[in-house]
Amino acid sequence: MDAKQYLAALNPQQKQSAESPHKYTQILAGPGSGKTRVLAARVVHLLNVEQFHPNDIVIATFTNKAANEIKQRIGKLVKDNHANSLVSGTFHSIAFHYLLRHGKKVGLPKNWTVIDRTEATNIMKQLLERLRKAKNPTADGIRGQELTPNVALSRVSRMKSSGLIAKPHCEQLSCLPGLTVNTNQSFQSTELYKLYQAVLRKNGYVDFDDLLILFIQLVHDHTYCIDNIKHILVDEFQDTSKIQYLLIKLLARDTSGITIVGDPDQSIYGFRSAELGNLVMMTTDFPDTRVFHLETNYRSADSILETAMAIINQDKARPQKTLRTSHRLSIKPYFKEFDSNDQESAWVACEIKRMVKSCPGLFSYSDIAILVRSSSLTRAIEHALAEQGIAYKMVGVHKFFDREEVRDVVAYARVVAFRDEQALMRIINVPSRNIGKVKVERILQETERRHTSMWNTLCLLNNGSFSLSQRVDKQFQRELGKFMHVINTTEASCDSSAPFSISSMLEILLRKVKYYEYLKKKHPSTYEEKWENVMELIRQSDVLGEQGVLFDDEDDISENRLALHRFLANAAIVGSTDNNEETRHQVTISTLHAAKGLEWPVVFLPCLCDTILPHSRSTDVDEERRLLYVGITRAQAMLYMSSFRGMQSNFFSVSSSETTHMKRSRFLSDIVVDKTLTSADIVFSETLALEIGAILGRANSGPVQNIMPQALENGFRSAKVIGSKDILRFVTCKSLDEENTKNVSSDK
Ligand code: ATP
Ligand code: MG
Repeated sequence: MDAKQYLAALNPQQKQSAESPHKYTQILAGPGSGKTRVLAARVVHLLNVEQFHPNDIVIATFTNKAANEIKQRIGKLVKDNHANSLVSGTFHSIAFHYLLRHGKKVGLPKNWTVIDRTEATNIMKQLLERLRKAKNPTADGIRGQELTPNVALSRVSRMKSSGLIAKPHCEQLSCLPGLTVNTNQSFQSTELYKLYQAVLRKNGYVDFDDLLILFIQLVHDHTYCIDNIKHILVDEFQDTSKIQYLLIKLLARDTSGITIVGDPDQSIYGFRSAELGNLVMMTTDFPDTRVFHLETNYRSADSILETAMAIINQDKARPQKTLRTSHRLSIKPYFKEFDSNDQESAWVACEIKRMVKSCPGLFSYSDIAILVRSSSLTRAIEHALAEQGIAYKMVGVHKFFDREEVRDVVAYARVVAFRDEQALMRIINVPSRNIGKVKVERILQETERRHTSMWNTLCLLNNGSFSLSQRVDKQFQRELGKFMHVINTTEASCDSSAPFSISSMLEILLRKVKYYEYLKKKHPSTYEEKWENVMELIRQSDVLGEQGVLFDDEDDISENRLALHRFLANAAIVGSTDNNEETRHQVTISTLHAAKGLEWPVVFLPCLCDTILPHSRSTDVDEERRLLYVGITRAQAMLYMSSFRGMQSNFFSVSSSETTHMKRSRFLSDIVVDKTLTSADIVFSETLALEIGAILGRANSGPVQNIMPQALENGFRSAKVIGSKDILRFVTCKSLDEENTKNVSSDK
């Protein structure tokens, strides 16, 4: 399909919005109505018809994976590799790309590093520990509050995402340009923020919130850095935060256009400072904004959409919207109540197996997703799937870059590149070098006393300038020397002019430190799987080292080092949101939040009980309802919902010995349950399989085979059923070329 055909395949509403001549365009529409598709089509239009250069365009998406998909889609439709030059990704990765080039202008040191949430939590933990031992008013206040590192970090993060900044040597917090925020926070919060920020500054660390803050400062103070941006496109706009919106506003100079797509009914990140008000704000800030609506859902069967609408319509305050379906299905979504969570999970696993077995060629395991409200709910499901021998992957739960072994390898690479303290602390005793906690603590104390870096302290220890104990510890001295030698020689290989790749650098490094042997000893039963993850990271490393814009020539940095820096920053950023495993034959287990924007032929929504959804800790019931709406509308053909009445005593609290009795979620009112199938099991009849095949645009080797011979007789090499029940007679050849569509008679 070329670009013309791609645009022609849109319906009139979609086409009109993709080709909107208006500078400011909002496309507001329900789930599955093609918003993301239109966004991609609009980029094609801007490139091919409006003759924009790819560097003129910035696309902000919810995940980097979504950005890559859009890029790939566009890549097939535009000329000269233009898609590769588009700046696209999450707001954080876009910020990173520009800061990589212009970081110096906002005061970043040469070797600045992005840190992720786990590292930020470690920093906060050390800070709190230090404060607990200290004697001053801040420390007293913090002690009184008994803050955990996570809570303290969230507090700082909230201040940052509301636009508050802690400038060095300033008593008070200040506010980002363009925002009015109350800068009067409590004394303790302000101090905590300032102290945390001082640690980041000292080490050249940038956390995720800082990426946006620094980018805003860059755009505000050094306009010329982003002068070339002529159009900004934002997917999932309903979940942008206040400062993300500020960023869009700053990026959009007088000459640039903005296109946003979104759906207020799918706003599910209010708890993380998303501002639904941004939609209205945009029409106020840019009065010429033209709003388009899309009204046909191309994703889900009519019965699924009906159930979704019955739920979202419970919110009486929400403006009514039209959403027509384009697929008919003769069965309703399924709903079942169980006695216990374990029974429910066992049923989910059995039903998945039955479905794949009943409809070979129609469903494979990768067509199926199980979506849950929170990660703690996956335990029973994982267990049940394992019992049935069904492979699964996790999205939004355990991420590739969060795995212990992957973090270790990345930390090694960071020590090579930056000698940074967090990474050093992680791997200095991995594999064991007789440098345990007590020694590390002493090294850190010495580092602080000498106002130097941890690496410098290690150098002093290594050359005998001082010692950690009175008695000479020869083994320690030897191990430390070996470790530092490995790091130094690896760095030298990176700085030399000899051929270099990150993958070979990592392989050699890991061999030298005997990392495989360490994994094998530490995890005798799972080391193979862990080593496979290490290998996967090594395989990806060269690609990750290539992604990202080039530094300006003001930074005299070698190509090898640049690749290493890019690899590290991409590992931190990609790892924060996306799952990097892509395996067919695996069921997906995901949180509802991480499923946003995605779709699967079959969706299971288990654990639909009050206190789980809506969650007992949530303060916004409407947002919880929207979350269920998002979950339901991920399903294309089959939707299974379930709840359970009793639960294991240790479900939420290990210490509690009582059984908690659960109730069906209040969102599953009688009206909703009436729209579901609650009695007998679903029979995968021939008709049903045909209908599903039609929704998914798939031929199948099961019942549909009956009409295939006739299609083949009529001159098709391979055939595919399209349309639903009563238009089953339309069969098209695999290329989906309209002209080849013929009316094939079937005796069905
Ligand atoms: P969400 O709100 O969940 O993000 P969306 O509005 O972004 O959904 P898309 O993901 O763009 O919707 O599209 C949903 C599905 O419908 C996709 O599989 C897409 O390819 C398909 N689709 C969109 N428009 C059309 C069309 N005109 N013809 C056929 N299929 C379409
Ligand atoms: Mg979308």
